[in-house]
Amino acid sequence: MVTFSSAVLTDPGLRREGNEDAFCIREDLGLYLVADGMGGHEAGEVASRLAAEVVETFLNDTKGADVNTTWPFPYDPALTLDGNRLKAAFRLANRRLAAAMEQNEALRGMATTAVAVLAAKGDPVVAHVGDSRIYLLRAGRLRQVTEDHSWVSEQVRAGVLSETDARRHPWRNVVTRALSGGEDPEVDVAVLDDLEVGDRLLLCSDGLSGVVPPDRIAEILAEPGDLPAACKALVNAANAAGGPDNITVAMLKVDVA
Ligand code: CA
Repeated sequence: MVTFSSAVLTDPGLRREGNEDAFCIREDLGLYLVADGMGGHEAGEVASRLAAEVVETFLNDTKGADVNTTWPFPYDPALTLDGNRLKAAFRLANRRLAAAMEQNEALRGMATTAVAVLAAKGDPVVAHVGDSRIYLLRAGRLRQVTEDHSWVSEQVRAGVLSETDARRHPWRNVVTRALSGGEDPEVDVAVLDDLEVGDRLLLCSDGLSGVVPPDRIAEILAEPGDLPAACKALVNAANAAGGPDNITVAMLKVDVA
C-alpha cells in the first residue's frame, strides 16, 4: 500500500479579496483534494467548499466497503473499487451543488473544479474535472498527470496554441468541464500504479499553474527541504508572478510504495 506524507497551503493571491479555492487532506482516508470554485459573490467559495465536503463525507462513509457503495451511480467494471468510489463521490458532489442551487437563487451558476488522489486500497487513483492539475516529480523530471478540461488546453493538444500562449490567452480561464450541477459529469480517473519512494505529487489550482511555468515548478519541487517549505515557495512564485488568482498547492511525498 502506498502511503504519503503531505502538506497544503492556500493563499488568496495579490488581486482577489476572497479565496474560492478549497482543499481536503485526510491522511486516514488516503484522500487529498483541491477544488477551485467559480461563481458570483461568494458562490464560488460555496461551490468548492461543498464539493470538498461531499467528497470527504462520501469516502469516509464508504471506507472499507464493497462494490455496492457507488449507488446511485453505476459501478464501472473498468475502474478499481477506489476509482469507482472517487468517481461516485465527484458525481454526488455535482448533485449536491444542483440541490444547493435549487434551494438558494444566489448560488445559481456556481461551479467548481476538483482534483483528487485517493490512496486507500491497492494502487492510488486520481480523478479530476476542470483545470486544476496534478503533477508528478520523479528524479527531477516533472510530468503533468492530468489533462486540463479547458478551451486553451484543447487548442494546445490540437497544435494550435503553445503552452506559453495558452497561459496568456484571454480565454485561458474557460473550462470545458466542471462540477456545475448539470448532468452527471464525465470524471477522468487514472491509476498511479508505478509510484516510487521519494516521488512527489503536486495538486494545484490554476492560480499556480496559470502563472508559474512547469520548469520553475519542477525546480521548486526538486529543492531539498520539507513539504511545507516547498508549498510556501510555490505560493511565493505565483505571487511573484503577479498573484492574479487564488493559489492552492497540496504536496504529497511517497513514503512507502
Ligand atoms: Ca482559479
